[in-house]
Amino acid sequence: MDSIFTKIIKGEIPSYKISENENFFAFLDINPNAKGHTLVIPKKQVDKLFDLDEQTYTELFAYTKKVAAAIEKVIPCNRVGLTVIGLEVPHAHVHLIPLNTMSDASFSKPKAQLSQIEFIELAAKISKAMDS
Ligand code: 5GP
Repeated sequence: MDSIFTKIIKGEIPSYKISENENFFAFLDINPNAKGHTLVIPKKQVDKLFDLDEQTYTELFAYTKKVAAAIEKVIPCNRVGLTVIGLEVPHAHVHLIPLNTMSDASFSKPKAQLSQIEFIELAAKISKAMDS
């Protein structure tokens, strides 16, 4: 069965896409801890990150590094943090979260609220920063 993220990759569910290549896809988290919270996923649907084959695992982090650099260019923050959870969506993914305080890394605090326009503009800015 396709995961919700596979449906996003296929375009069956909309997303605020930042970038993709043959094997990976990056998009804004719909319920962000902080503005710019991004998910990076392999197109290959595997539940647990540490079950990915070596090549996909390594390339996922190389791709994640590029996305993180683009986020840092666009979002004023102390640094971009990386978290792996996976309790909600059984499709391996990395959370990239702009951090200013420790609480920005918390999934228990109130979420950042963005309008649809803000999501669209933010994804476009980070996407553009990936090319620059
Ligand atoms: P985890 O599986 O790592 O515990 O959490 C899954 C993450 O995916 C959550 O931060 C949640 O907000 C995000 N998420 C769940 N469904 C969707 C969706 O349909 N679109 C987007 N953009 N994010 C989603």
